[in-house]
Amino acid sequence: MITYDFSGRSAVITGGASGIGLATARLLASSGARVAILDVDGAEAEAAAGAIGENALGVGADVRASADVNAAVSRAAEQHGPADILVCCAGIAGRSLRTVEVDDAEWERVNAVNANGTFYAMRAVLGAMLERGYGRIVNVASVAGKEGNPMAAAYSASKAAVIGMTKSVGKDVAGSGVLVNCIAPAPVATPMVAGLTEEHVTYMLSRVPLARLATPEEAAIAICWLASDAMTFSTGAAFDLSGGRLTY
Ligand code: NAD
Repeated sequence: MITYDFSGRSAVITGGASGIGLATARLLASSGARVAILDVDGAEAEAAAGAIGENALGVGADVRASADVNAAVSRAAEQHGPADILVCCAGIAGRSLRTVEVDDAEWERVNAVNANGTFYAMRAVLGAMLERGYGRIVNVASVAGKEGNPMAAAYSASKAAVIGMTKSVGKDVAGSGVLVNCIAPAPVATPMVAGLTEEHVTYMLSRVPLARLATPEEAAIAICWLASDAMTFSTGAAFDLSGGRLTY
């Protein structure tokens, strides 16, 4: 089993009740961190935290609402101390639609969760990180944000936004002790992928040279490396976790 040393660290994971976020919360906690699981599904967040143990807290929060995010980050800080680590996993795939079928509400919904939510969470933790001169932020983008997937204009755009804001914020806070990076995964075996059409998943897998889905645990290992003190010389970077799909 892979472990890192996160003793004494406080971590906030958005979207931590399921999939990649849950696997990351588990690995952070088993490596010594206090973890706060923020999720729009508050009951699932509490259940996930309960299963992890006393060093975990579940908080209901909708990342589309900055006030919700700020309140949840404050609640986590009251119990665990200010966040040393933020992992932004909250995200939705949206519906598999041809561009002409995407209505305004669908476009806005996907971008509100994936792009706005990531920005609100970063902004919520950054002030305290900068004051203390330490922080690790890891955002979860996607291969779709680099290459664009068909039937996924809103999702691809929102993930390109995550990569863009990671690059910007990483430079904005460079030298402060806070490092900001993201991962760009190819399909990972989570409930999100289970909800996509077969056509959509077949297309995505056909582009992956390693020809399989990643596991949430594989994603968590990459995230935890970027969230750890082993990472010292990358910021504003996008790391591929794509089974060979991405080449730039
Ligand atoms: P998942 O559906 O298993 O988990 C996503 C979590 O985010 C859920 O617990 C959900 O309740 C939460 N969430 C959704 N909307 C929210 C909101 N408004 N506020 C707070 N929480 C919210 O999905 P996953 O596959 O683990 O995805 C995690 C991240 O990884 C997402 O950002 C996704 O886009 C990204 N990603 C996933 C894949 C994949 O193939 N699974 C590939 C690349 C990137």
